Amino acid sequence: MADTIRSIRGMNDLLPDVTPYWQAVEATLKSVLNGYGYQEIRFPIVEKTELFKRSIGEVTDIVEKEMYTFEDRNGDSLTLRPEGTAGCVRAAMENGLLNQTQRLWYMGPMFRHERPQKGRYRQFHQVGVEAYGFDGPDIDAEMILMTARLWKQLGLIGVTLQLNSLGSTEARLAYRDELVKYFEANQEQLDEDSQRRLHSNPLRILDSKNPDMQALNEAAPKLIDHLDDESRADFEALCRTLDNAGIEYEINPRLVRGLDYYGKTVFEWVTDQLGSQGTVCAGGRYDGLVAQLGGKGATAIGFAIGIERLIALLEATSALPEIPQMDAYLVAVGEAAADKAPILAESLRDQLPGFKLISHCGGGSFKSQFKRADRSGARWTLILGEEEINNETVGVKTMATGEQETVNWCDLAAYLSQ
Ligand code: ATP
Ligand code: MG
Repeated sequence: MADTIRSIRGMNDLLPDVTPYWQAVEATLKSVLNGYGYQEIRFPIVEKTELFKRSIGEVTDIVEKEMYTFEDRNGDSLTLRPEGTAGCVRAAMENGLLNQTQRLWYMGPMFRHERPQKGRYRQFHQVGVEAYGFDGPDIDAEMILMTARLWKQLGLIGVTLQLNSLGSTEARLAYRDELVKYFEANQEQLDEDSQRRLHSNPLRILDSKNPDMQALNEAAPKLIDHLDDESRADFEALCRTLDNAGIEYEINPRLVRGLDYYGKTVFEWVTDQLGSQGTVCAGGRYDGLVAQLGGKGATAIGFAIGIERLIALLEATSALPEIPQMDAYLVAVGEAAADKAPILAESLRDQLPGFKLISHCGGGSFKSQFKRADRSGARWTLILGEEEINNETVGVKTMATGEQETVNWCDLAAYLSQ
């Protein structure tokens, strides 16, 4: 016998026992985002490798070691998107959307070759939100208020907001020098990853998940103490709006984000209930990226939510959405009943939009069909046998009580709609 082919490590099948939760969560996300005037954009899962190198940055974890890159048949280097911002900017630029302000969202799979563990997969899903052409901190505040509303709408508790400002490019470069000096003076305390980042991407050292690096990082000079005037004023305005709206936050001077394109406001929603994979939502300003990709410098801000982590957190806090049950399961025994069943089912579907009805397929005895009806979780079992056909009726069994009534075909829709 041939070996069976298994899925790729870190790439999960989502089975019917969980997809209803995904659908419900996605529906809530979409309705809140649409409600703020954000519009959906869909762009390809594959882009030219160069796009990610140029936007995410050559010396980031993603570009250095996490991308799924391959050669197209015509020799181009292509990459499965590791995140959505780069493709979103590319699509918006290419289609002339950046001539005016835009509020956009997208949802779908992302791919990173990471070590699979709880909350960290090689194919995972994000909902991403981006706004272009808004310079002021009002849009920063809008995005954070919108995420807070998402949690409220989803019934999510146990996430806290962390904020930081990465300042202007100049402020960041000056700070970077100071930070390198600090780490050089303490070089013997740097772990291997941090040694490697010391000159390529020193800010990223602050984001280290190694507990041994904690003390060193906490004592490091803070970028928020070295902000340029504009970044400081914007950050204060953002904090003021959040204060007025009653949104709690914590200023975390070590919050840097692992991608190169961020500046000014950055934020994360984190939880301590998912082990070390605690970031559920992460985002910030990336005003430089559009110009860096060859566009006319539109300012930009965005965030992404990891849907696997969001659903894991809903589960951990017993806040998974209620899954709507089937309304009815129609069983039919005998040739005449089997002929009538699909016609009756279609007539109910015509009369009761949204009614969730399974019409039994595959024949079998009443006993075996009832078993299926039971397993479907439907509220009613509708029964068609020889007697019902002769009388033009249906047996309607209420599964919760076991009570059964006989209802005429012509009264059935009205009966089921009460
Ligand atoms: P982390 O620090 O956890 O590696 P990141 O900084 O790489 O996260 P982003 O690129 O900001 O993550 O992605 C935004 C969100 O997408 C994360 O906060 C997380 O919820 C989710 N995410 C990122 N990578 C993965 C992954 N490999 N598996 C599942 N979810 C992920
Ligand atoms: Mg990562």
